[in-house]
Amino acid sequence: MATDVVVIGGGVIGLATAHELLRLGARVTILERSYCGKESSWAGGGILSPLLPWDYHDSVTQLVQLSNKLFPKLVEELRQETGISPEYQTCGMLVLSDVKNTQDDAVKIWCDRNIFSIKNLSPHEIVPELTWDKSALWLPAVAQVRSPRFLQALKKSVELSGGIISEHVEVKSWKFKHAHVESVITSQGEHVAQHYIVAAGAWSQEVLSEYALKMNVYPVRGQMLLFRAPLGLLKTIVFHNGFYLIPRQDGHILAGSTMENVGFNKNITNDAREELLAKTRTLLPMLTEEMLVGHWAGLRPGSYGNIPIISRHPVITNLYLNSGHHRYGVTMAPGSAHLLSKTVINNLPSLDSAPYHWPN
Ligand SMILES: Cc1cc2nc3c(=O)[nH]c(=O)nc-3n(C[C@H](O)[C@H](O)[C@H](O)COP(=O)(O)OP(=O)(O)OC[C@H]3O[C@@H](n4cnc5c(N)ncnc54)[C@H](O)[C@@H]3O)c2cc1C
Repeated sequence: MATDVVVIGGGVIGLATAHELLRLGARVTILERSYCGKESSWAGGGILSPLLPWDYHDSVTQLVQLSNKLFPKLVEELRQETGISPEYQTCGMLVLSDVKNTQDDAVKIWCDRNIFSIKNLSPHEIVPELTWDKSALWLPAVAQVRSPRFLQALKKSVELSGGIISEHVEVKSWKFKHAHVESVITSQGEHVAQHYIVAAGAWSQEVLSEYALKMNVYPVRGQMLLFRAPLGLLKTIVFHNGFYLIPRQDGHILAGSTMENVGFNKNITNDAREELLAKTRTLLPMLTEEMLVGHWAGLRPGSYGNIPIISRHPVITNLYLNSGHHRYGVTMAPGSAHLLSKTVINNLPSLDSAPYHWPN
């Protein structure tokens, strides 16, 4: 069957982009070398916000704000269409601070400018079980999804909308005519389309090889622990000094995550397990090692400042990239899908695309 767009990579970014293009009337094929949604996107915590949102460049903030606006409708449509709930919930985030008054002027200015609600309070007002006795900031608008469910729903919706998903198909190389991709060569033969989107996460640069030009997307390993806790032990995300706890609706709690530059090594380590267990014990002693039921690692598509590249190739006219979302790919997925889809069909997106252009 003829295809307008080939998407390379079936993580949250590839699936969300395919989903959006299908809604705009394109015929789409996803080529995924393993199973869709089993790499970084599966490993992620599903927090739908930068951890300290005021610490990022405006381009991250704008993409997050667009995504936050799109999320409620998207997850509701997915739930109704597929019967799979992504478990979207506005659970809020409690940011624990080592100093008494956390609301410094720069944070206040950022929050006012971005109409972002925060409150200085005692952490026990929100989570009585915490050992923390200093101050905290309450970010009530922060939401989450359960990443594996979100991915399942996106995948099913792509299929129901007529998208073709070809798993166990690895893109190996490119065929060009002048500054135009003619086809991609895969482990299962050749694929021809009008447009080609690389959404291969940490592997995007490898997929593009010398055509990557000056893009710089690299793997950053993150390890996570999963606990099975009594229902209701924790109801909100808690963050302290790079470490977070995320409660799911069924009582599971995730504890993460590490940031490691170890190339494409996806192994879990004992050191990370001990470090994450110690941090868990310090914040919430009721969450014990006996409740530990999982430990995994994923490779984030790292980028400078967490600013993704969502863009047409500077030279090759029908090649595009949607990658480099680093710590916030789930958060930024709907906005990134919107931006790239509009670029492919030559329509104006609802966000200036300049900050996400491909460096050359
Ligand atoms: C521990 C951890 C916690 C995280 N927590 C959060 C969080 O709370 N909130 C948040 O927003 N983000 C979080 N993230 C980051 C987020 O998960 C990533 O930014 C996001 O998943 C990137 O999505 P992606 O689709 O670009 O990459 P991936 O999910 O890695 O997908 C890329 C896909 O491309 C495929 N592929 C690669 N090469 C080829 C090829 N040659 N041919 C065909 N297919 C190929 C891969 O198999 C893979 O399926 C976390 C990440 C980790 C690791």
